[in-house]
Amino acid sequence: MTASGGQQQSDAVARRGLMLVLSSPSGAGKTTLSRRLLDADPGVELSVSVTTRKQRPGEVDGRDYHFIDAARFEAMIKRGELLEWAHVFGHRYGTPRAPVEAALVRGHDVLFDIDWQGTQQLREKADRDLVSIFVLPPSMPDLEQRLRRRAQDSDDVIHARMATAADEMSHWAEYDYVVINTDVDHAFAQVQSILAAERLKRERQIGLSEFIRRLQAQL
Ligand code: 5GP
Repeated sequence: MTASGGQQQSDAVARRGLMLVLSSPSGAGKTTLSRRLLDADPGVELSVSVTTRKQRPGEVDGRDYHFIDAARFEAMIKRGELLEWAHVFGHRYGTPRAPVEAALVRGHDVLFDIDWQGTQQLREKADRDLVSIFVLPPSMPDLEQRLRRRAQDSDDVIHARMATAADEMSHWAEYDYVVINTDVDHAFAQVQSILAAERLKRERQIGLSEFIRRLQAQL
């Protein structure tokens, strides 16, 4: 069954959305996989994080991140407006709570591009809604090559990211699923299969009792 097959079933049976986390060391292909999923599946929307880091060329405020200053970030934490937050590469990143909760209630899935620290917090706060996938590169030379091909960062930054990658990879066992991204088409198909199966979990199909009642009324 494809991901869109799961979507069709949710037209007949009301469903609670799920929170899909894709984490990986930078360069392992997570961003490509996320973009493809968002393009292919209208039932999935992206959680746009807030961050205190500077906007990079090509990034759009409100689409890639909401770029905010440290004071505003602090205020959001105080008001309980962030579902999770973390320090990554010297900057702060966090997930606004309200859009996620609204999407889940509408039966939409929310995709998160967050690190292992954020995933741990989501597991504590929203374990039943969470489906987490860790994406690994096929090898470290392959990862370095992909980081260099992006050519956005200096040598120093690339070396720092390679060192961080080793640390990030040690968290693989905290995830529900692990996908090795040797071939991006294959990895994408694996992500779609995971999503299709998770959507069919009984406890997420909150309209099942009503659907069964309707079936029985047809006897
Ligand atoms: P970048 O600055 O390259 O866009 O992202 C750096 C890292 O921060 C990535 O590993 C990304 O997954 C992580 N990240 C982005 N947004 C969030 C967030 O809202 N929460 C957490 N915990 N990590 C995030």
